[in-house]
Parts: sequence; C-alpha cells; structure tokens
Amino acid sequence: LIAIARIAVLFLAATAAVAAPADRAYYHGSVFTADGAHRIVQAIAIRDGRIVYVGDDAGLAPFIGEGTVRIDLKGGFLMPGVIDGHLHPLEAGRNLLHCSLDYAPLTVPEFQARIQACLDASASVEPDGWLEAVGWFQEGMRPAGVTTSRATLDALRTKRPIIIRSSFGHTVLANSRALALAAITAKTSDPVGGRITKDGAGEPNGLLEDAAFEVFRSIIPAPTPEQDVAAARAALAALNRQGVTSFLDAMALPEDLAAFSSLSHSGELTARAHFAPLIEPKEAAALEAAVARVVSIRKRYDEGAIGREPRVTVRNAKLFLDGVIAAPALTGALLEPYRRNAGTDASPHFVAGTSRGPAVYFNARDLARVLSALAREGIDPHLHADGDGAVHAALDGIQAMRTSARGADIRPAIAHDEMVGRIDYARFRELDATPVISFQWDKPAGDTLGLRPYIGQRRMAILEPAGLLAAAGARIAFGSDWPVDALDEWFAFKVGVTRTNAPDAGREFAGRLGKDPGLSPEAVLRAATINAAYELHEDEVTGSLELGKLADLIVLDRNPLTVPPEDIAKVKVEETVVGGRVVYARH
Ligand SMILES: [Zn+2]
Repeated sequence: LIAIARIAVLFLAATAAVAAPADRAYYHGSVFTADGAHRIVQAIAIRDGRIVYVGDDAGLAPFIGEGTVRIDLKGGFLMPGVIDGHLHPLEAGRNLLHCSLDYAPLTVPEFQARIQACLDASASVEPDGWLEAVGWFQEGMRPAGVTTSRATLDALRTKRPIIIRSSFGHTVLANSRALALAAITAKTSDPVGGRITKDGAGEPNGLLEDAAFEVFRSIIPAPTPEQDVAAARAALAALNRQGVTSFLDAMALPEDLAAFSSLSHSGELTARAHFAPLIEPKEAAALEAAVARVVSIRKRYDEGAIGREPRVTVRNAKLFLDGVIAAPALTGALLEPYRRNAGTDASPHFVAGTSRGPAVYFNARDLARVLSALAREGIDPHLHADGDGAVHAALDGIQAMRTSARGADIRPAIAHDEMVGRIDYARFRELDATPVISFQWDKPAGDTLGLRPYIGQRRMAILEPAGLLAAAGARIAFGSDWPVDALDEWFAFKVGVTRTNAPDAGREFAGRLGKDPGLSPEAVLRAATINAAYELHEDEVTGSLELGKLADLIVLDRNPLTVPPEDIAKVKVEETVVGGRVVYARH
C-alpha cells in the first residue's frame, strides 16, 4: 500500500511539473546531492524555492519552459549550501567593520604601521575617539618570541586611547591613555579570572588577560543598534560569499538576536539564522529559570518552521563546560593531568603534573537536570567541550538526558572536541550526539604544537580526532567558530582532509597533525551540509539536494571531490542560492 501511495505521489509530482515549468534549471554538471544514496547527478531544477527535479540531463526536459532560467554548468560542480554549525556572526560582522590586523603574522614595525594606518583613516575623532583593532595574531608575531607592550602603541602618532584584541580572544593590548581611562595602575590587583601584566617596575605593561579587559566594555561606547544591523549585514554578505546558507550563532546575546531579527523584518536575511542563547554556570542554582529564559527568547524571536524565506530560529541553548586547552590558558578540563614545566622558560623541563585544568563548569547532577529540562522544552543543547574531561562530562549529561527524555527528538551537539578519550569515541553514535568540529584546527600550528609538552606524545598523536570519531560512527558536523579564525570555509575543508597547514605556513608547521586519518573529501562536505542540517534540526528541508527540499545550493569553480586535496582550499564559490533566490554571484 505504501508503495502504491508513493507511486501516486511521484505521478502527481510529474504531472504538476509538466503543468508548471521550473524557475531555474542547472544541467551538464556534477551535482553532489549529499543524499542517503550518495548520488552524484547531472541536473537539478527549482520551482517556488524548492527542488522539483534531481537527475540526469535527459530527464530535465519536462521542467523547461519559456520562463525557465537555464544554467549550463559545463561540467562544473554544484552542491547543497554550506551549513556552518557554530560561529559568532555579530562579533564577526563587527570585526569586519573594525580596524583589523587580519590574523597576519607581523613584525613589530608592521604591527605599528597597520595600526597607524587605521588611526590616520579615522583621524577626525582625534584626540578622544577610541581605536579598537581586532584580528591580532599575537601568537604569530615575528620573529617568534617577540613581545609587545603599551610602549609599542604609545610610539604611534596619536593622542587617542587604543586597544588591540587578539584573535584568540584572551588578550588585549592597551596604550597608556586607554589604561588611564580604565584606571588600571600599578595598584590595581588582578580581577578574578584575569591578569594585569606588570613590568619590572610594577607598572601595567598594557597586556591584559581575560577578565582584566572586561572593564573596557563599560567605557568604550557600545555599538548602536544601527551599527549592529550593519555588522550583521556585513557578516551575511561574507557568509554568502563563502557559500554559507544556514548557520548557528553559538552564543546568542540579545544584540545578536535584535540585529538579525531586524534584517529578517526588512527582508535582508540571506541565510537561515539559528541562535543558541547562553545558560551560564552561575545559573546552576536556578536552572529552571534559566531554561524558562531560553524559552521566552524563543517565544519572542523564533519565526516558525523553516520555509522558503530565511528566518530566525531559536531551537538551541549554549552551555560552556570548560575553556580552551591551548597553552598558556590550559583551561580545558582533562581526564588526565596536564604535564608541567619544572624547569624555567629558558630551559624547560616538563614532568608529570597534577592539574587536570578547571573542574567541569557544570557538575554532573546540574548538567543532567538542565539538559533534561531543555529536552522537555524541545531545545537542542549545544555544549562547548574542548578537553577530554569536558567531552566525557558532556556525554554523561547527554546520556542522562536520553534516559529522562526517552524518545524525544533532541539533537545534542558537542562543539570543539579537541581532545576526546578513546573510551568515548563510540558514545557519540550510541547517544546520537553530534561533534561540531572546526576542521581548520586539525593541522600543525602554534596552538596545536604548543600543546605537545603539556599533554605529551601519546595524547598529542590523537589530538583533534575528527577522523577517529568518524571511524567510530560519529555524525561529524562542521562549525567554523568565526571570528576565532578568519572566515575561510574552504581552507577548513582542505585541512579536514589533509590535516596539513597551508603550503606557505613555514617549515616548523610542515607535515600532518598526529595519527588521525582525517576525513575523505566527501565526508567533509557531508559534515558541512546534511550533518550540520541534522544538528540544526533542518535536515527535513535542507542539507541535501532531494525532491521537495528547499533550494539552498552553491555552484563552485572546481570539484572538491576530484581536485588534489590541497586545492580544496582554492575553491571559489560562483553562486549561492537560498530558497531558490540568488543571494551571491561571483560575476
Ligand atoms: Zn565558539
């Protein structure tokens, strides 16, 4: 009976197609569908924002009418739009509008010249207007080991207060004027969770770590709502240019929701926008209230079922379970202790340590309670877990949630997973927990190689275990974490396959990272399409090119499945289509 019904539906679809030609049709292509059968076809047709045909060129004829826009792909590559399962779009968009050092490895004179250029370009706000620069690759300053201080900035031709934000987000460099306005002096003691670096004379040297630079939040004028809308618009344009058609804002603050909602109302939302409001560890004492707050944010901003026009969706909540494993922070929660330096900086001598990093930010009981409460509300938890101890706790929490909310369609995600204990590999599949991986981290670089003395050879060999998790059956999803790195999805996809740095990264970063086998090009593309669609609970309508699904697709300048893997980084997106509408065209 089911088979007969299905034939009837297909027949109706076919007759309807003849009656109404497609709006757009692509043919002579290599169309990667990301469907369950792993099909690659030649042609696809769209009507009213949905896919009405996927198949060979010959079958396309009935869908071609007078008004059909016909695109000859000439052997080119077409695939579902990229779904970025973890990023911070408003902050990223603000950065695009700020003075940026573009994550470049700079010498001190280059660093100064870049900042002077930003000062000169906005000289009208002398002498009191703040200069805030972003994208400072502090760990990559050249030559290695060179340091900066407020004197580096005080040497510039300006009276203005200046702060420079590191791309990793843990350090700010301030000039003397900025320190004075923030009333940071030799007498100021370190705040909880932060450090004011002092020079030999006990004076602040301008480098401020973590909570120590929170003070600027209250003294630098906050962006206006109009500026935030401009930032959101800039972020969307950058995302569409990379082929992104859906994304998750992995820590949605009120201003994020306000800015993107405003663009939705004005018809300018060009990607499907998902938001994960934050539940903080300090809310552990009142978890019901925290969950109720997320529910009320959903009520206020969520625009309903995913349809042709991109909308705002609130179906996730974000919880941090630890910090970052990278040195010198070492705030990732580990199963086994970090090693420690028993020697000096000049002549280090690493030995077994006793610290496993901070305790997981939510205890097991609270985590189980909050995840279960979220599940009852139909909210998917998005857990930040970087160290293997945090990942283990996340899986335990999800296990408790699965028991208490048996059968509920909840899609828990664990972001980052830079270290995962071998005992936990199979649990991702067993618990249907999605690891959300930033593939561009899976390479030899300052942050990964800098960990070697702290975690030792055995753990180093299985750092960034995307391939190992995939081999254990995990459904890997991709998330760029933009703006922690510059937005470059195709470089990330390349690294997911090769586990190598860029060819010009320098000899110290040559070769592959660790023993992990990496992912196949197809697995990487599936992570950034159908698997991320599953994470975001929109796989019924996006993530693959199948009959009846929404027409979210991209056309590329080359085939990432057949080019040498290093060249995946060179992919250019020719066209980005969301719900049948072209939102980006390269030419
Ligand atoms: Zn993030």
